[in-house]
Amino acid sequence: MIKNYLLAPGPTPVPARVLLAMAQPLIHHRTPQFSRIFAEAKQGLKEIFQTEQDVLMLAASGTGGMESAVTNLFSPGDEVVVVNGGKFGERWGKIASKYGLKVDEIKVEWGQAVRPAAIQKLLDEKPQIRGIFVQASETSTTVVHPVEEIAKLTRKRDCLLIVDGITAVGVYDIPMDRWGIDVLVTGSQKALMLPPGLAFVALSPRAWEKTKSSKLPRFYFDLAKERENLAKDTTAWTPAISLIIGLREALAMLLKEEGLTNAFARQARQAAATRAAANALDLKLVAPDAPSPATTGIFVASGVDGGKLVAYLRDKMGVTFAGGQDQLKGKIVRIAHLGYVGAFDTVTAIAALEMGLRKFGHPTPLGRGVGAAQEVLMSALPE
Ligand SMILES: *Cc1c(COP(=O)(O)O)cnc(C)c1O
Repeated sequence: MIKNYLLAPGPTPVPARVLLAMAQPLIHHRTPQFSRIFAEAKQGLKEIFQTEQDVLMLAASGTGGMESAVTNLFSPGDEVVVVNGGKFGERWGKIASKYGLKVDEIKVEWGQAVRPAAIQKLLDEKPQIRGIFVQASETSTTVVHPVEEIAKLTRKRDCLLIVDGITAVGVYDIPMDRWGIDVLVTGSQKALMLPPGLAFVALSPRAWEKTKSSKLPRFYFDLAKERENLAKDTTAWTPAISLIIGLREALAMLLKEEGLTNAFARQARQAAATRAAANALDLKLVAPDAPSPATTGIFVASGVDGGKLVAYLRDKMGVTFAGGQDQLKGKIVRIAHLGYVGAFDTVTAIAALEMGLRKFGHPTPLGRGVGAAQEVLMSALPE
């Protein structure tokens, strides 16, 4: 038997309580019974998004939420900016191009955050730009982009800021209303401790206004229709009933029991401990300057095949990390800290990394990274 630890940046571990809530016999969705659960989940999502606006629940993976932002707000030929500093930034560009938007890409070196000055320059040169698409946390490169700074630029202009917050919402403080984000998207399988299958999308008042003039076709992801139904505590189509029941449980854990601020601190601490471990092991970080608290990318020691290391840890030792994609393939591991992850997940992750590196021939000093992580985790030892 191998005991498994899921420590990749999505899907993330689902607490037993949430699994059990979802294992109950199905109830029908057009009932007062379901509507009560839906209403509770709806309220909790507003707290998670830190918004007064409605947060829509779509039966889709995160990408469905991303696509809905494009089709509900724009018209063919609209000019937009995409920040492309990794696989998910690239995805914004692909969706927007597919729907006939004119895309200006800001290419960002992998491992770096976008410079707000680069966005400002483009906006000054091209006042016709109507939207900026960015990731809050670019999971493929483990970078955090400066969304608050970008929002300062878009708020003053007729230009919407659309943020993929899929590994940010519920991980660290990203107050949608206070910062002036126009569209914020997340998915169920990351910080919200659920299986994949729900996308969550919230729009600012000016983004809702924009949906009225947007000409792109949409049917399943018609956000205005979805909002009308949400007001009646239901959904336009059959909702992912079990996932929404699980969501209510996960939100109770996160908001009522732990508290959002504590959850942010817990996840940030796992990230800090992991970075300290990498330093102690003389391993380089993928994003040393703007590291995401959701996941830490670490270059494996030279001479070690990262792909083989990740497969070995997963298949033989039961510890699942993510590897690298594209130009980072085989070169890095990504250890996740988001969702239902605590101190001993981090200790396990670092111990497994050390043993795996040793197994692949690198003279890793066993315990050095673990000790460095423990030092960070000691700072929050409970009374
Ligand atoms: C996981 C993730 C997505 C989601 O994609 P799906 O596979 O469609 O759920 C999108 N953006 C980021 C930044 C992610 O981490």
